[in-house]
Amino acid sequence: MPAPPPRRVLSAVVAATALALTTAACGSGSDSGSGSAAGAVVTSFYPIQFATQQITGGALPVTVLTKPGAEPHDLELAPQDIGGLTKARLVVYADGFQPAVDEAVVLVDPTKVLDVADVAKLVPASTDDSDHAGESGTETEQHDTADGHDGHDGHDHGADDPHFWLDPSRYAAVAQAISARLSKDDPANAPVYAKNTAIFVEKLSALDEEMRVGLQQCRVKELVTSHAAFGYLAARYGFEQRGITGVSPEAEPSATALKAVGDLVRSAGVTTIYQETLVEPHFAQTVAESTGAKVATLDPIEGITSASVGADYFEVMRSNLVALRDGQECS
Ligand SMILES: [Zn+2]
Repeated sequence: MPAPPPRRVLSAVVAATALALTTAACGSGSDSGSGSAAGAVVTSFYPIQFATQQITGGALPVTVLTKPGAEPHDLELAPQDIGGLTKARLVVYADGFQPAVDEAVVLVDPTKVLDVADVAKLVPASTDDSDHAGESGTETEQHDTADGHDGHDGHDHGADDPHFWLDPSRYAAVAQAISARLSKDDPANAPVYAKNTAIFVEKLSALDEEMRVGLQQCRVKELVTSHAAFGYLAARYGFEQRGITGVSPEAEPSATALKAVGDLVRSAGVTTIYQETLVEPHFAQTVAESTGAKVATLDPIEGITSASVGADYFEVMRSNLVALRDGQECS
């Protein structure tokens, strides 16, 4: 087990910031520009930022807490980030993905927060025999992701798979929720948001169709990835994801888990193992070397950097499609 994230340190930062904010109510200097003008829409990480920007089309400033290239799961927030949150016009995030954001959002006026986790219909991360040997053996849920049932009611998002944007249909639902909220808060611009959202959703459905057609006939159904970010994508396009690490990339796989993935790769005739861009790829390479499979890149689009295989969500998804068609041997 890796060391747990530094939550106690973070809590101290949050507490100190809360104190500072209550004693010095009017701060200055968020990047919203003109003094009394409404603040920015603060988004938690890239896919939410991108959707929000597509919807606002420049009508509102949109900022992001996770800097490009930073690994979003274990994001840490600086006091000024938290200060910016409390001055935001609206904070858009997905509960259960980034503990630091979940914790900081508590400090924000709840009427200025939009949590998209429910709209995304998150379901528990699939845990199968091959990953996390020894962890709780819940092997359920994995096959009924399509109907997005509520599972165990309540807000136990910590166990849910957060990577909704890798299924364009879930991403569209989130975009519509963001759009509805922006329109409600800013009725003057509602027609602009509605028009931009329609265009964005149309592009997502075109992408979805392209992926559906492109991945319809593939010899290999097992999708072996480094971190288990592709559960929704796999469910939508007929694959079975086997993550070498868990939903969170820093989780270290055990020797038993690595061996199990290796066995699966051999028995299922898997020829390609996918690494990603923001995470050290050595687990994927370890399995590849022991099985003779090759390593290809599949980008979970948790941020766009110069290393990304495309300049935005759509470009990277299409690069992912090319990689999948090759690696899964699709005709
Ligand atoms: Zn992830």
